Amino acid sequence: MNIPFLDLKATYLELKAEMDAAYQRVMNSGWYLLGRELEAFEAEFAEYCGVKHCIGVANGLDALHLILRAFDIGPGDEVIVPANTYIATWLAVSQCGALPVPVEPDQRTYNIDPALIEKVITPRTKAIMPVHLYGQPADMDPILEIAARHGLKVIEDNAQAHGARYKGRRTGGLGHAAGNSFYPGKNLGAFGDGGAVTTNDDTLADRIRLLRNYGSKIKYYNDEKGFNSRLDELQAAFLRVKLTKLDEWNERRRRIAAFYIQKLGVGSTERSELVLPLVASWTEPVWHLFVIRHPQRDELQNKLMAAGIGTLIHYPFPPHLTSAYREMGSHAGAFPVAEELARTVLSLPIGPQMSHEQAHHVIQSMKAVAR
Ligand SMILES: *Cc1c(COP(=O)(O)O)cnc(C)c1O
Repeated sequence: MNIPFLDLKATYLELKAEMDAAYQRVMNSGWYLLGRELEAFEAEFAEYCGVKHCIGVANGLDALHLILRAFDIGPGDEVIVPANTYIATWLAVSQCGALPVPVEPDQRTYNIDPALIEKVITPRTKAIMPVHLYGQPADMDPILEIAARHGLKVIEDNAQAHGARYKGRRTGGLGHAAGNSFYPGKNLGAFGDGGAVTTNDDTLADRIRLLRNYGSKIKYYNDEKGFNSRLDELQAAFLRVKLTKLDEWNERRRRIAAFYIQKLGVGSTERSELVLPLVASWTEPVWHLFVIRHPQRDELQNKLMAAGIGTLIHYPFPPHLTSAYREMGSHAGAFPVAEELARTVLSLPIGPQMSHEQAHHVIQSMKAVAR
């Protein structure tokens, strides 16, 4: 049995009739950018996240970047980011000319450790950017409390957590604004690039609408130097179809995660070195990824590959150790928790179209090879 890490074509095939109808509708409309599909998707996704505004943009990185711009964050400013995240979180800050200031994750949840945030706040700090990594909500209450005390913005990186809940409330509406990615592999994924800003802030929403479209509200009247970052009509139409399935598809991911945890958890065998993801009691994760840890991670990955099971590493290098951030002058050991995660994490297959038999095969193989 071969199990791919993620089967994106299966997401299309499950919704083929609706997707093909959406395609025909847009193609026949003769209107391909900033039209009715985008407006409808923005209204539907805003309602889903429980916020007033959703503004579609070209991708998740742009969503984060435009939020920072719209809050006038730039050169000389600092933004607090997790030391372990996909590099896009940091790049959004760098693109504005501001400085990403890393904070180590909590060892158990892999999300930014709120207890370490206050130590790195300086007079230049303007915002905190927590990431709901792997689809598990970050601990937002202490972050919001610290931000309020220091007059900082809280910008959620919600790229991996569409539909997740923190203390009953949906992510994407917990801070001042959130950046969402609709990269194909995300829980709500387009068939190409896409992204959106979600927020309750009217002023910010207006500014993002300007910035995504050349700084212009009325064609050829340019109020400021903007960007070209739009979510096109085809992707918006596809996302509208997928949004109707998001809760059901997240529920299927939850079932697979529960099955993995039940069968690979404490007491199932002698695999004391295997670390399973911890679900904090106040979160309802959406399992964008199912990430385990193991000291012999590379060996485990090879053995699973030999058994036909696709796995990936999210992420093999923390941003501070990449060539892209060599100017930070960071050495190995600067952020030991993030570095330890990068050495030991492994993402098992999970997805809405994965069958019970496939999950069972992953579990049997894990039992055979992991010690
Ligand atoms: C995917 C992702 C992004 C960037 O999204 P794109 O749409 O690929 O630009 C940002 N942050 C995190 C945590 C992500 O996983």
